[in-house]
Amino acid sequence: MSGIWRCVDAYEWVELPNTLGMVMHADGGYLGSKPYAASGKYIQRMSDYCGACRYKVSSAEEDNSCPFNSLYWHFIQRHRGRFGKHPRMGMVYKAWERMAPARRRAILQRAEALLDDIENL
Ligand code: SF4
Repeated sequence: MSGIWRCVDAYEWVELPNTLGMVMHADGGYLGSKPYAASGKYIQRMSDYCGACRYKVSSAEEDNSCPFNSLYWHFIQRHRGRFGKHPRMGMVYKAWERMAPARRRAILQRAEALLDDIENL
């Protein structure tokens, strides 16, 4: 079997559960109980995308900060009721709570501004 047919064959048992189910959390946590959400810092660590980007990946609250950073924390905060007690999310919520309240507010404000103007990112 050639490589292309293996990929096509894998669509239903790999692409649907992993790409659509786990990554998009579209299965409601059936396979991947932890949401596969990532900050810009994680994207930077796992790729070479950020080098030439106009956004500042090291920042989450400045006007030119990477959108993925503030939107990640916005997602975490927005879904605290659902994921706050999840054993695999404890470190994430601890990191969020360790931030100074003023910084958390600034991050959420940056995320709200991005969401209000999402078409122009
Ligand atoms: S928006 Fe830019 S800085 Fe942020 S993760 Fe993407 S490439 Fe990196």
